[in-house]
Amino acid sequence: MKKLLLAGAVLVVTYISVSLWLAPPSAPQQMIFHGGPIVTMEDAAPSAEAIIIEDGIITGIGSLADLQAQSPSASLYNLEGNTLMPGLIEPHSHPIAAAQFAATIDVSGFTHTSRAEVIQALKDNVDDTPTPWALAFGWDPVMVNDLEAPTLAELDAIAPEKPLLILTQMMHDAYANSAALAAAGITSDTPNPTAGEFVKDASGQLTGTIREVGAINVLFAAMPPAPAGANDLLLNLFMAEYARAGYTTVGVMGPVGNDADPIGLLKRRSGTGAPIQTMVYALPGQLAAESTPEGRGGTAPVVGVKFWMDGSPYAGGAASTEPYEVNALTTERLHLKPGHIGAVMIPEDEFTRNFTEFHTRGFQIATHVQGEEAVERVLDVAERVLADHPRADHRHRLEHNALIRPDQLARAHRLGFTTSFFIDHIRFYGDKLPLLFGAERTARYMPIGTALEAGHTVTIHADHPATPIGPLRSLTTLLKRSPNNGGDAIGPEQILSRTDALKAMTLNAAWQLGLEDTRGSLKVGKQADLLVLSQNLMTVPVDQIEATQVIGTWINGQPVDTRQTTRTNASLLWDVLMGMTGL
Ligand SMILES: [Zn+2]
Repeated sequence: MKKLLLAGAVLVVTYISVSLWLAPPSAPQQMIFHGGPIVTMEDAAPSAEAIIIEDGIITGIGSLADLQAQSPSASLYNLEGNTLMPGLIEPHSHPIAAAQFAATIDVSGFTHTSRAEVIQALKDNVDDTPTPWALAFGWDPVMVNDLEAPTLAELDAIAPEKPLLILTQMMHDAYANSAALAAAGITSDTPNPTAGEFVKDASGQLTGTIREVGAINVLFAAMPPAPAGANDLLLNLFMAEYARAGYTTVGVMGPVGNDADPIGLLKRRSGTGAPIQTMVYALPGQLAAESTPEGRGGTAPVVGVKFWMDGSPYAGGAASTEPYEVNALTTERLHLKPGHIGAVMIPEDEFTRNFTEFHTRGFQIATHVQGEEAVERVLDVAERVLADHPRADHRHRLEHNALIRPDQLARAHRLGFTTSFFIDHIRFYGDKLPLLFGAERTARYMPIGTALEAGHTVTIHADHPATPIGPLRSLTTLLKRSPNNGGDAIGPEQILSRTDALKAMTLNAAWQLGLEDTRGSLKVGKQADLLVLSQNLMTVPVDQIEATQVIGTWINGQPVDTRQTTRTNASLLWDVLMGMTGL
């Protein structure tokens, strides 16, 4: 009996100490921040000496003396020379896919420089993946110079029995071995799905190459589901990565990933105490019939729908007006025929139906467009639908916009569209752009400066996991437009001012997500979503921006817990283990 009591006591003590250790940080309800640069992102008063937060809301901005007089009992937070600014907002990301891919075999161009290295990474890891399928992510034939597509025989040699699926970095192509094709029931007689292709050779045999989301999803659907709770844990761990990088809000653009209910998963993981807040743009099929947008103050509210009008520029998918260039990169590595132009993926009548439906139900419609023809299809359809169904301030979105022309930017603005640019294409693929699109189109690639001049409230995004999380890198790209591998700035006249660049990542992004009344700047009445940095991004030299340390983020006036071992993660891990052991 004594022993039992002792054991019980040890358990209770252990439980209490672990709980205390795992307890999330918290801050007093009334806090005055002072002692460092305070960057508000508001034109009327761009900097301040002090700012007071009460119950999660900014209630005063001004001198320290005035704010202390206003609330004598408020606690003080001395920035000690660090900079306070609004939390960063990423308007276009894929956290579920990113969380799952972070647990796959990495074959990316960010970490591999040759085909031999990529193939070795696959061989080394295929048998060790804990999952029934081996999943690899990051295959990048543009960034890795000699990366020829794998043949089916090669894939079968790497993984003779285990299903193997390799996803390309831009997620528009994939490669499957015979075991994966068989598990998904795909044979040479299987018809291609809408918006996708199971590529066949001249004799009609499958090559293992899978093109575009519609076809890739057929393979995803065949994968056994992850153990219960595993996706919750992976997502919660991954969300802290956004916070560690300085983000407080993320727009989830088409919640793709291997989960039966991605929106439910996002809602479970986005509530109070989550590392970031999320806004969801659903795939059309994920929405209940007749449903309408959810209020923007809710948890992971579904506010929009996402469409793909063309594909990736680095897989031949950009629906451009002029063909791709003809050279070894395009013909031998990307296997594009001379004269190749990417397809506009959604037929005009089908997009008109969809656009009308979701526009009239009140959703914000976000469409992936890279080539000029994809932009044209969206604007042509929108112009007609908007004439029949006018709706003020709809803020429909054009995503990425690699090759959008100045006249299209002007027309988009006139129609009430807003644009978000995938600026890091310049950084990671800039040196290859002339080989894909020639000098003239390279010079006007990702024309964010032209968009700003045309009146757009411009934003940028990094489309994780298409590129790694790194807002300071993206900011540097905005301000330099230099490719990673050296070389001159690409379209230097498109470089934004420091203020405009930072607005693209804060205030403008809040507006694009419909959150301008509550987030995106430090202003009395807005919620206290904050970022503390070691350097002032407004004044630090461009080449030192990426050396800035993120000290911490705050959501609704409370510090965000970015540790790996949190109470939430411990309990999610417990759930997974219990589920797996059947207890
Ligand atoms: Zn995306």
